[in-house]
Amino acid sequence: MRNALHVLTDELRRLKASGVKTVHVPDATLAALRQAVHTQSEKRRAEGGKNERVTPEAETTAAPAVKIAPEIIAPEPPKAYSTLRAPPAAPRVSSLPPPPIFTLPEGDKATRWAGLRDRVLGDPVCRAHVRPGKKVVFGVGSIDAQIMFVGEAPGADEEVQGEPFVGPAGQLLTKMIQAMGLQRQQVYIGNIMNWRPELPTGADGRQYGNREPTEEEMTYCLPYLRAQIDVIAPTIVVALGSTASKGLLGMRAFKTLGEVRGRWHEYCGRPLMVTYHPSYLLRKETESKLGERRAKRAAWEDFLLVMQRAGLPISDKQRGYFLDK
Ligand code: URA
Repeated sequence: MRNALHVLTDELRRLKASGVKTVHVPDATLAALRQAVHTQSEKRRAEGGKNERVTPEAETTAAPAVKIAPEIIAPEPPKAYSTLRAPPAAPRVSSLPPPPIFTLPEGDKATRWAGLRDRVLGDPVCRAHVRPGKKVVFGVGSIDAQIMFVGEAPGADEEVQGEPFVGPAGQLLTKMIQAMGLQRQQVYIGNIMNWRPELPTGADGRQYGNREPTEEEMTYCLPYLRAQIDVIAPTIVVALGSTASKGLLGMRAFKTLGEVRGRWHEYCGRPLMVTYHPSYLLRKETESKLGERRAKRAAWEDFLLVMQRAGLPISDKQRGYFLDK
């Protein structure tokens, strides 16, 4: 039930971000949803009232408990969004071949980066996991970047555009980069995964929501991220959220993000900062103003540490972002 609601929230958020103002939910669907929530809470009460709240420490890029804003529910029944519903269970992920072994072309940074990009975009395993019309996603930004951000995996918007962090989470990341006094083009942004982890395709041909990559999927794609870090040679790497942090620190390096967040680690001899994923901060926006502010302040403090280590100027105004007035 909870997963189904997460998927639904993600999709509503994506639609909102893409400019959709009204989503029709038929009365029968609403009634079924109310009934399902009711049944679930009755069940939980009977089991002793387990609290399912997502805490920062339990943070992943999975979506939070849903709030369906009343303004997105309209009375008319156009067909367009009548497919809003929970997807079937996640598919079994087929076995992948061992991680790729490859060499980069000789030459300068630009040549090596372009060779790596061609290699990833042409990788038969990556291509085989991308649905028709969608794209393998490679890193983007300055090849001379001092700071490299690492996310989890492309989502719906990223697989369409073939660029990491272009959807709602990406827009928030871009704003945070700008708050550091930088432009998006001055940093480098990559992901652990080069394809959007597959979800079942509905009868309408669409996939709803996102899922975390499996360890096997991450293991396959990691050499490509590692090679990007080697080529770009950033002075600082920033892992966004649990999945990216597990990819870089080790799958079993920590249980909750709180154990590693806000501190310096090391990845291949480079300083690595672990912080929240922007999707987590977006979810906080839908919960409470106070929660949102606290989470954003915590993330911002991580960014201040990055700025300090990178030798970027920090104004008093920047130091004070998201502090209680
Ligand atoms: N979330 C990620 O982790 N990566 C993206 O590219 C987009 C959303």
